[in-house]
Amino acid sequence: MSIALYTHHSCLEHDPGPGHPESPARLEAVLEALADPRFAALKRVEAPRATRAQLVRVHRAELLDEVLERAPQSGWRRLDPDTVMSPVSAEAALRAAGAVCAAVDAAIAGTNRRAFCAVRPPGHHATPSTAMGFCLFNSIAVGAAHAIAAHCLERVAIVDFDVHHGNGTQDIFWNDPRVLYVSSHQSPLYPGTGARTETGAGNIVNAPLSPGSGSADFRAVYEQTLLPALASFAPQLVMISAGFDAHRLDPLANLNLETHDYAWITERLAGIAERHAAGRVVSSLEGGYNLTALRESVAAHLAALMT
Ligand SMILES: [Zn+2]
Repeated sequence: MSIALYTHHSCLEHDPGPGHPESPARLEAVLEALADPRFAALKRVEAPRATRAQLVRVHRAELLDEVLERAPQSGWRRLDPDTVMSPVSAEAALRAAGAVCAAVDAAIAGTNRRAFCAVRPPGHHATPSTAMGFCLFNSIAVGAAHAIAAHCLERVAIVDFDVHHGNGTQDIFWNDPRVLYVSSHQSPLYPGTGARTETGAGNIVNAPLSPGSGSADFRAVYEQTLLPALASFAPQLVMISAGFDAHRLDPLANLNLETHDYAWITERLAGIAERHAAGRVVSSLEGGYNLTALRESVAAHLAALMT
């Protein structure tokens, strides 16, 4: 299986400041894990910048101006208590969203049917108009909108297994039945959305998990609810908001996934892609804040994507 790895050095340099959990060390850990010889076959690609035309499909001009025109020249600019820009952050956000669009292009062209975008800042909390929760642009949403607009896809699935609910992705596609958004997440937890009753135009499926839930609970919501929803949607492209903060070692939440759960869910999603989407999977890094867990979980995710 031909797999591409998209990243860019600006994604390593984006720095929300000392003590912030969304640190450059996260991406260093990811790239370190993927430097292992078993990942030698990954095709490494420098992420291009997203274009304005790609971004405005999901974001309002006010947010583009906020991120692109008002970046600090030095030091930091705080957009909210959690979401902080350094001078290189706008470039990193452009490359993160551009990575996902380029991965979509390659998946649909068949040059690389699967891809992992090793990028930061993460994206799934960014709404049409607001950067929040460490996120500037909603990269996975920009990529899904790109698949629909540039490649005329009619059914794109986004699977979000980050421990936090992707409120931004849900908002963006709330009324768009061309996108199925399915999410497993801890509840209660930031950002407070993601109840089962939030269903959009019937294209949103939320599976909240109580604090303390572990492998069996996680697998049960996928087996019983999320995977059947995906199978009946029959996506032409499977996209993954790949956050690894539901791992038991993660300091920001209280789920108890093990590393092998990320291999399990990735195999299941790859199976859906094989049956319906010509094998196409585009995955993009979201959260994951314990470096040991992140390193192991990303390796498990990529190893499963490669088989
Ligand atoms: Zn998260």
